[in-house]
Amino acid sequence: MSNSLKSKAQSPKSTISGRWSVIRFFVLFCLTAYCSLLSAYAQTPSPKSILGFQPTDDKTIADWSQITNYFQKLDQASDKVKVRQIGVTTLGKPMIVAFISSADNIKNLDKHRQINQKLANPNSVKNAAELENLIKQGKTIVSISCSIHSTEIVASQMSMNLAYELATANDENTKEILNNTILLLIPSSNPDGIQIVADWYRKTLGTKSEGSSPPELYHHYAGHDNNRDWFMLNLPETQNITKLYWQEWFPQIVYDVHQMGQTGARFVIPPFFDPPNPRISPLILREVGLVGYKMAADLQAENIAGVATNTTFDTWWHGGFRSAPYFHNSIGILSEAASADLMSPVTITQEKLKAARPSRGLNSPIETATNHPDIWNGGIWRPADIAQIEMIASRGLLEMAAKFRPRYLRNFYELGKANLEPKKDEPQAFIVPAGQPAAETISRFLEILLWQGVEIHQMTRELEVTRENNKADFHEIPLGSFLVFVNQAQKNNVLSLFEKQVYPQRLNANGEAEVPYDVAGWTLPLQMGIDYTAAWQIKDLAQFKNSLKKVENINQARSVLNLNPNKTAFGKMPNPLKTNPKIGLYKPFTSSMDEGWTRLVFDNFQIPFSSVSDADFRAGKLNFDAIILSADNENTIVKGLSAERYPAEFAGGIGEQGVENLKKFVESGGKLICFDDSCEFLIKRFNLPVKNVLNGLKRSEFYNPGSIVRLKVDAKNPLAKNLTEETAAYFINSSAFEISDKSKVKSIAKYADKDALLSGWILGEKYLNGKTALAETAYGKGKIVLFAFRPQHRGQTYATFPFIFNALEK
Ligand SMILES: [Zn+2]
Repeated sequence: MSNSLKSKAQSPKSTISGRWSVIRFFVLFCLTAYCSLLSAYAQTPSPKSILGFQPTDDKTIADWSQITNYFQKLDQASDKVKVRQIGVTTLGKPMIVAFISSADNIKNLDKHRQINQKLANPNSVKNAAELENLIKQGKTIVSISCSIHSTEIVASQMSMNLAYELATANDENTKEILNNTILLLIPSSNPDGIQIVADWYRKTLGTKSEGSSPPELYHHYAGHDNNRDWFMLNLPETQNITKLYWQEWFPQIVYDVHQMGQTGARFVIPPFFDPPNPRISPLILREVGLVGYKMAADLQAENIAGVATNTTFDTWWHGGFRSAPYFHNSIGILSEAASADLMSPVTITQEKLKAARPSRGLNSPIETATNHPDIWNGGIWRPADIAQIEMIASRGLLEMAAKFRPRYLRNFYELGKANLEPKKDEPQAFIVPAGQPAAETISRFLEILLWQGVEIHQMTRELEVTRENNKADFHEIPLGSFLVFVNQAQKNNVLSLFEKQVYPQRLNANGEAEVPYDVAGWTLPLQMGIDYTAAWQIKDLAQFKNSLKKVENINQARSVLNLNPNKTAFGKMPNPLKTNPKIGLYKPFTSSMDEGWTRLVFDNFQIPFSSVSDADFRAGKLNFDAIILSADNENTIVKGLSAERYPAEFAGGIGEQGVENLKKFVESGGKLICFDDSCEFLIKRFNLPVKNVLNGLKRSEFYNPGSIVRLKVDAKNPLAKNLTEETAAYFINSSAFEISDKSKVKSIAKYADKDALLSGWILGEKYLNGKTALAETAYGKGKIVLFAFRPQHRGQTYATFPFIFNALEK
């Protein structure tokens, strides 16, 4: 029986149907719980007995209601499984976690959670005797999360088989796992997407579209980028799991199960590729490698071919499901299995394997190497093959967690404890000074930190600090500022969020930039346009500490910021628009993440808008004051999805007719706002006197995979209202403009003439320096606004949101 706790995290879009599905979940839960009392010794039901098919068999798929239903049944029948709701999704579906362990551990879940909370907070452990007792009694907390990327669907189906096996197997190995670990199994961290993919798969089974990706984002706002949100917490799914992990359970090991393309290695696991992030403890990197090698050895013992380590994925970037744990002293594991066509098998020929593109650390899937000793030679590749590998890997990981339980707990505690000690090359604290104009943004920033368990203090008296290392140059920090000490258990998270990232210059043998796995820089206050300072020395620290007040919740901080309390966590931002423009946002069927993030910003800031479809463009239904094209390229916009693979209603893009209608819209007085890639399309089709100077540059000349750059802004221009002359913007393989007719096109912001890089990595910065980043031009009776960068990147760049708001005003 389970107490379904409701998370404080509220969905930004708590739809009525969403609420109903949650209520239905509760009612069903209680009813079936009652029934199970009547048959206390009911046999543990197999997935097949409940679903009517064996999960992961060819062409079967369980949707989210079937998966949650199965886990409820398991909860009722087994004393080794307890299911809890951890919140609701963006579209209002229940999110669940299944705790799986020995019956005794399940009975004492609360006790074990408290033990682990103490280990995560070394300050709360009084002495060595208490520590030894905690380690003696504690269990290794492991979390496995499935199918955050919903088209990587197999793990969500596999999760039912894994739970059933652990709940019913009686061998010594399973007993050891259950006695020594508590597994937090998350059948999917994106339930909305499981439903979207299951619905689409069933609808298209036996048609030309069988096994294709759905013609919509599988996360309402973020699509694939839902796994880029783990330090920003824009999405309810990320908020719910972050709370479960870093406020409640503090897992020592987190395993995030993914799939990749079809023609590479069969399975990629750690150790990872270079570069490592210097803020990740070397011990964590070693432990990550150890778990990966255990998985690899177990797979090899079962004669599974095509397993690769040390390739493609690095540990540089912070924001992924498995990388955020590193900054909480936890071991984050990622696996990537080769995909089938959703749940339909595929045939992978030798030719396809030969033609596979080389990846970092792996030349070819048919080349033997130390990190890939047993090649897979091609053949039929089935969902059940993927599931088998993921099951072996999961068991391998759990076996490690069980066998070395005391070591995992001790290391976890010791890492946290070491973080409490000051180091010479680290500041003592970061300070967000009082008196900044964007109070709501500061509130959001502080809430993001608090939610991750970062300790924040409110200053009740003035303070003097030095802003640079080894300089006794004290500056006064005003009352009402916020202070984040570096020396807390999750020190590395604090440093990684506040510091500027310095990505190493990594070139391949041809002198070309080596592509990192994700972005190179993310410094959060910079992205959000928040002024902050590092405090290297604090005057009279001991005395000053007594005057600090710990920030217990966001509303305490909001009162300091003179803001009204928020009723829900991550409450909406006030609508910044002074006028009431009719806004149309182009929504292609190609699942544009950039479009999704734009929608998220509008919904968060309560800005009304309409989505505009390909059909609307073709029919000229463009009755708006402003239309936004997010960062999509010409091919995507004009041609869209292929009619060979997709039904006519989703295929074909806006077409040539749509382009003509868009021209008419601007000529007759409309405003067109383009982000990044879509500018290219506009410049070409509207024949604008603007050129992207980065076009055609080789990767040995210019490269910037995702960094924060400095803009010089014409602050007098209405488009730059509420912005300062220097603003940080996000550049991710973006553009830089040269204007050939300055009488027609106005430059509103430029990349800085020098030292444009603020955080991350740029190869060939000179190509960027002084070039236009934001331009505006008249066209007929209308206007076109060209953003060379993405002003709303992943919903993180609060610093440049005002550009969008200003551009939208009538
Ligand atoms: Zn994935």
